[in-house]
Amino acid sequence: MATIFSKIVAGEIPCHRVFETEHCLAFLDINPIARGHVLCIPKQEVDYIFDLDDESLCELQLFAKRVARGLKKVCPCIKVAQAVIGVDVPHVHIHLVPLNKPSDLNFSNHLEISSEELSELARQIGAAID
Ligand code: 5GP
Repeated sequence: MATIFSKIVAGEIPCHRVFETEHCLAFLDINPIARGHVLCIPKQEVDYIFDLDDESLCELQLFAKRVARGLKKVCPCIKVAQAVIGVDVPHVHIHLVPLNKPSDLNFSNHLEISSEELSELARQIGAAID
């Protein structure tokens, strides 16, 4: 059965799309732990990041780098943190989280952000990506 992220890739489930290339997609996390919490995924459905072939892994990491640079312009922070967990959704995803203090990378945090603000944030981050 297709993962929820494959359904997002296919446009069957809505998301706040940030940016995409032929093989990768970035969109806002539905349950953000910080303003500007982005997920970067390969469009190919693979569960575990270290099962990706070398080329796909490098491509995803370089894609995340590009997105992180745009994200940092829109959500001022000391650094953009990257995390890979992958216990909830069996489809590789890199979390990108703007970080101003270590506790910002806390997956127990949950921010309430309106859909309108998320749309605008996704648009701004996408526009800031080179
Ligand atoms: P993990 O698998 O890394 O533990 O967490 C999965 C992440 O995917 C969570 O941060 C969760 O909020 C996010 N997520 C789960 N379902 C959806 C969805 O349908 N849309 C979006 N945008 N994010 C989702």
